[in-house]
Amino acid sequence: ARPVIAIVGRPNVGKSTIFNRIIGDRLAIVEDKPGVTRDRLYGTAEWNGKPFSIIDTGGIEIDGDDEIMRSVKMQAELAIAEADVIVFMVDAKVGITHADEEVAQMLYRSKKPVVLAVNKVDNENRQEEVYEFYSLGFGDPIAISGAHGLGIGDLLEAASMLL
Ligand code: GDP
Ligand code: MG
Repeated sequence: ARPVIAIVGRPNVGKSTIFNRIIGDRLAIVEDKPGVTRDRLYGTAEWNGKPFSIIDTGGIEIDGDDEIMRSVKMQAELAIAEADVIVFMVDAKVGITHADEEVAQMLYRSKKPVVLAVNKVDNENRQEEVYEFYSLGFGDPIAISGAHGLGIGDLLEAASMLL
């Protein structure tokens, strides 16, 4: 079977934007169960000839603002269970939030390989915004911009090295 990469992070960091950029039109499955929405978007792609599956876990949304933390934790659990490598996505414009720290703790304890992607680094002038994210404890953050398509190759290179 293809190795699995899962993208995890709180709502609005840009998970789906990056997922779509990575898979292009190769969307494999969309699951939607009533009640709790558990859409898991699976796609396929390859990097340097190495095929992999990729999951956008962000479809796991529970209604209600106070439930965001719960849905983010569910995503992280799903990714820990299913993925060979986890892309932990954060937002350079917002900085580190409590939700980010909670996810970081879960991922850290899981001992799964994690690549930290700092999205919304939309131009070179903003590279310094990634430094605060070293404190999350996942090594070198990878600066990306889903909006501008920057750093996606660096991200896939880092993730595929851990597969
Ligand atoms: P998700 O909830 O994590 O799946 O995030 P989305 O992919 O839905 O994106 C959330 C918002 O961030 C949308 O308004 C996107 O257009 C915006 N966004 C995504 N990537 C970038 C980026 O690289 N730069 C900027 N400035 N905005 C972005
Ligand atoms: Mg999304």
